[in-house]
Amino acid sequence: MRQFFSMLFKNPLTTFAFFTLITLIFLVMITPWLGLEDPNVINTGNKYLPAFSDNHILGTDHLGRDLFSRLMWGTQLSLAVGVSASLFAAFFGSLIGILSGYFGRRVDNILMRGIDMLMAFPYILLALAIVAVLGPGLINALVAVVVVNVPFFARNIRGVTVGIAHKEFVDAARLAGMSHFKIIVFEILPNVLPIIIVAMSTTVGWMILETAGLSFLGLGSQPPQADLGSMLGQARNSLISHPHVSVIPGLMIFLIVICVNLLGDGLRDALDPRLKSGALSRPAAATKVQVDENEKKSYQHNQDALLSIVGLQTRFNISHRTYKASNDVSFHIKPGECLGLVGESGSGKSVTALSIMGLIPSPPGVITGGSIQLDGEELIGMPYERLRELRGDKVAYIFQDPLSTLHPLFKVGDQLIEAVQVHHPISRAEARAKAIELMEEVHIPNPVDRLDSFPHEFSGGMRQRIAIAMALINNPSLIIADEPTTALDVTVQGQVLSILDQLRRERGVSILFITHDFGVVSQLCDRVIVMYAGKIVEEGATNDVLESPLHPYTKRLIQCVPKLGRGKTALHAIDGLPPLTCDLPPGCSFAPRCHKASENCTRVEPTNQIVVDRLVKCHEPEGVE
Ligand code: ADP
Ligand code: MG
Repeated sequence: MRQFFSMLFKNPLTTFAFFTLITLIFLVMITPWLGLEDPNVINTGNKYLPAFSDNHILGTDHLGRDLFSRLMWGTQLSLAVGVSASLFAAFFGSLIGILSGYFGRRVDNILMRGIDMLMAFPYILLALAIVAVLGPGLINALVAVVVVNVPFFARNIRGVTVGIAHKEFVDAARLAGMSHFKIIVFEILPNVLPIIIVAMSTTVGWMILETAGLSFLGLGSQPPQADLGSMLGQARNSLISHPHVSVIPGLMIFLIVICVNLLGDGLRDALDPRLKSGALSRPAAATKVQVDENEKKSYQHNQDALLSIVGLQTRFNISHRTYKASNDVSFHIKPGECLGLVGESGSGKSVTALSIMGLIPSPPGVITGGSIQLDGEELIGMPYERLRELRGDKVAYIFQDPLSTLHPLFKVGDQLIEAVQVHHPISRAEARAKAIELMEEVHIPNPVDRLDSFPHEFSGGMRQRIAIAMALINNPSLIIADEPTTALDVTVQGQVLSILDQLRRERGVSILFITHDFGVVSQLCDRVIVMYAGKIVEEGATNDVLESPLHPYTKRLIQCVPKLGRGKTALHAIDGLPPLTCDLPPGCSFAPRCHKASENCTRVEPTNQIVVDRLVKCHEPEGVE
């Protein structure tokens, strides 16, 4: 709740709107006790008194009625009618939306066609027609405004409900034998409530305007009763001669509606949890870079490497914290080499991989240091156009879940063809031939027919092979595979790994292979680097690292891999949790979980040590005396 209010008040406009509205509401609530003159008492002798006259602070209207008193009573009425109209519209609209979204089929058809009929009429005409049928009067105006606004809520909420009604937790509730009523109230409603509130907050202003509009036309509140619309309507004859009579209610309507809308916007921002992480502010096309140019030039790169990263710093600035997700990361990949990047979930593997092509969303991500060279070309701070040329062409990515990386509505063939045509001006037929060839290469049976299938028609393993084919289609020099087999079962994982291995040998492409599983590393990678809390803690040839890990963390990770045929050995897990990268301990980040940690480890951060041709960041490496 506190977080909600701090989000709400972060925006000065929202704060202004909130307090203005609170003050207004308070004032209209205490109006009966303010001892104001009766708003309806006519005194034609006093008509059109200007503002600041004796006893009439805002002056009087054409019948000599006190404008301040009428304004307060009128605001009260307009607010009450506007808010109740939106409550009713939200209630009936959401009810219709939830019912038709939840039950679907015939219920949906009947309700939605009814809503369509309402929507077929021009909005204001419909309201006028309803009042014409019911007769003028405030309550009838309210009914008209509610009726014309119901479709807005019904449509919105139906859409959201359809999305929720088939989620697993609703199925689970159904399986547990809950009644429809209970499912709607306890499962569906809490999920659509924020949307109802947001929709309401953005329409209240609108409805106040509509009721004022109807009153202005004489169809809403009837004389002598004052509401803002009717005050404005009655003042229009004296608009030129006595402007204050119309300007005063006009300003009040303006103030209320603008405050309601500002507050509605603020409310929407505060209620949407995605905004907290900055996800809705559209990220830039490339990660923000704040690197000192001179520092960047001073880095020494490995000249034989295809990809060389030195001192990479990628940070996330979230509220007041800075998460150092990649913290002084350096490594290189040689042409044709497969490098494994291993670490627990959250250790910064994906961030490092995405930093290479500037794919970290900014905000909140920023690259604050380091240098990345691909074939001698500096990638950090590279112009966006050039970066785009490289993405998917020279450097390709394969992600964990191919179902979310392939577009669900396009055939895989078209997606493969598009991937080529984005980068190379070749004909569709040529691109298609290339796609077929690659599908064969990744062992998809019957590729010509399969080109016309949609992603959901493939199994998980097949989809991942399509993703591999897509990565390969532009003959990249580097493939970055981010846990490509984590979502697959073991046999399919084996097949995918062997395809990757075969392709690497045949085509000489380099692979940065990210995984949390040392078992997978041993099948594919030549060399491996181990990452912990944003830093690289060990590097070496795969066999060496597997046989004699130097860092206690690596050793524990390897012990976590179950081995077949080893009898009943206990399966290890690493106790404790990795530290938050915004709040790293002063010494070694792993010290709190390390069985060997000495006092030195908790105070002094270890630097890189070279042990034969391997590298480790530890004060007390394993197996070294
Ligand atoms: P993994 O090693 O499992 O791939 P990641 O590289 O995805 O881990 O994440 C490393 C850390 O970076 C996470 O613990 C998280 O704190 C932070 N992080 C990653 N992506 C974002 C993001 N978009 N916004 C904020 N923080 C992020
Ligand atoms: Mg990851």
